[in-house]
Amino acid sequence: MPADPVAIARELLRCPSVTPAEGGALAYLEGLLKPAGFEVQRPKFAEPGTVDIENLYARIGAGSPHLVFAGHTDVVPPGDDAAWSHGPFAGDIADGVLYGRGAVDMKGAVACFAAAALDHLAASRNKPKGSLSFLITGDEEDVAVNGTVKLLQWAAARGETFDHCLLGEPSNPQALGDAVKVGRRGSLNGTLAVIGKQGHVAYPQLADNPVRGLVRLMAALMAEPLDRGSAQFDPSNLEFTSIDIGNRVVNLIPGQARARFNIRFNDHHTQMSLKALIEDRAAAAAGTARWRVDWEPSNADVFLTQPGPFVELVADAAAAVTGRKPVLSTSGGTSDARFIKDYCPVIEFGLVGATMHQVDERTPVADLVALTAIYRKVLQKYFGR
Ligand SMILES: [Zn+2]
Repeated sequence: MPADPVAIARELLRCPSVTPAEGGALAYLEGLLKPAGFEVQRPKFAEPGTVDIENLYARIGAGSPHLVFAGHTDVVPPGDDAAWSHGPFAGDIADGVLYGRGAVDMKGAVACFAAAALDHLAASRNKPKGSLSFLITGDEEDVAVNGTVKLLQWAAARGETFDHCLLGEPSNPQALGDAVKVGRRGSLNGTLAVIGKQGHVAYPQLADNPVRGLVRLMAALMAEPLDRGSAQFDPSNLEFTSIDIGNRVVNLIPGQARARFNIRFNDHHTQMSLKALIEDRAAAAAGTARWRVDWEPSNADVFLTQPGPFVELVADAAAAVTGRKPVLSTSGGTSDARFIKDYCPVIEFGLVGATMHQVDERTPVADLVALTAIYRKVLQKYFGR
């Protein structure tokens, strides 16, 4: 009998695994994978100032090629339980739709891949050609310190090497088969500060209002696009998110004015080239204003997996099941793929993300069945049977 992705998804949804809680989700996966022949490890990672986090690594097979499925079983908090039409950890199905926190982000995809893997192994008498692994973290949705980064380092230290990674984040905007994510933009935060001289508003000649310089510099940084986009990416974008002067009185010219901004950048840039570009543009517009940019450290570099056989294999599997060829997308926020890319080519394909992190997060049961069929095809094509 084929494995049932819907039953697996419901079991996972009933585990209250809000980061950093394991909630029974990894234990359940371990119990599912071990009898199929997987060697399962549950490394726990710690870091001063953060809560210890449980993770899971399961592997079957010893040779290459080695395909790793990456994902997470932690979820964001449900918010107000009463606002949900079905309990966020009940795993209820109504009118063919499965409700629950993590239904699409991303316990649903973990369940689909587990079901596909079990079916694949059953068909090959638990002796797969090559190796198949699960790299599952409990720390994706919060600070992501004791999760994928350390799990990858831990695996590398054990001599694990991967040929390709499929990450099960909800990659489809509207319908299953919309998009395979082959890249994600980088993200960088900075604060623009202009330093003036404090004084009485009635005696501006004795002061130097930093607001003038800040407005000029902000206008300059917003005036021109950072680039025109690349073959796979939209243009990079800078957005100011806050202007902070903190002046509570009406008769004081402030001594300093600051504005925070975030940049989402494409593969035309590195963090270093981007900082130089912003500072050059600010310098050119500054005139006499005294300014500086304080950059925050970022671990969110851009990643792009070039089109090729692995990307085609996954896109073709999705097309074969859904009848539509997915676009190769690089939109949206960052994901753990930014860490995995340093170890092997990685792409993302999962459920439809429209309700992720929302009240009544949900997925049609039919999507779980279809995604399992897609993953199953990926395994058949990847391992050549
Ligand atoms: Zn996620």
